[in-house]
Amino acid sequence: MSDVERREFTCVRCPMGCSLTVSLDDGVVTDVTGNGCPRGHAYGEHEATHPERVVTSLVRVAGDFRPVSVKTVSPVPKECVADVLAAVAATTVEPPVSIGDVLVPDVCGTGVDVVATRASA
Ligand code: SF4
Repeated sequence: MSDVERREFTCVRCPMGCSLTVSLDDGVVTDVTGNGCPRGHAYGEHEATHPERVVTSLVRVAGDFRPVSVKTVSPVPKECVADVLAAVAATTVEPPVSIGDVLVPDVCGTGVDVVATRASA
């Protein structure tokens, strides 16, 4: 017996914010409705099967009370977000930090680097 499921998402690919309904059968996308354009179809399919997120956070800088803002250079699997945030929170870097510096390489084995989005003082 197949496992049919319907999941709801809001497309974030443009400000229209279309409400998507993604139908899955045994984890395979069989239909996407509610999308106003093909980008929404692709978004719904991806979100239902391999959701990913860009993670933003702060990293402590030794000797500076102001942390630097950071982000992953590309999205990481959604199920890794908590681990990525924990790894970033456990990191302290030495100054100076420049925008674009890799502060946590290959975070949590995702193959994605965490880079600075603000320079240290
Ligand atoms: S489905 Fe298309 S029109 Fe609708 S929010 Fe997504 S990108 Fe915009």
